[in-house]
Amino acid sequence: MNFTKEQITELTGYLEGSCKSLDEGINDILSTADPLLEFDSDDLSMQNLDQIDSEVFHCAVCSWWFAADERSGDTVDETVCVQCDNH
Ligand SMILES: [Zn+2]
Repeated sequence: MNFTKEQITELTGYLEGSCKSLDEGINDILSTADPLLEFDSDDLSMQNLDQIDSEVFHCAVCSWWFAADERSGDTVDETVCVQCDNH
């Protein structure tokens, strides 16, 4: 399934500042497009995942979603937000 850029932008806008899982966001945003269908993160295309990755990230420590530019630049193994990296 390849969702449109607009759908993914809506999804990332929804996730940012929340601590929902990606699957929850997909259910809340993308699955509402057609009530008969249910999606999860396995249904996203590589383009969709790349777009999500370029817009938001999920902090491995606090589990909140942040805009991609708040990603800490020092952390290689885990994706951690600037706030958590300072602690
Ligand atoms: Zn964090």
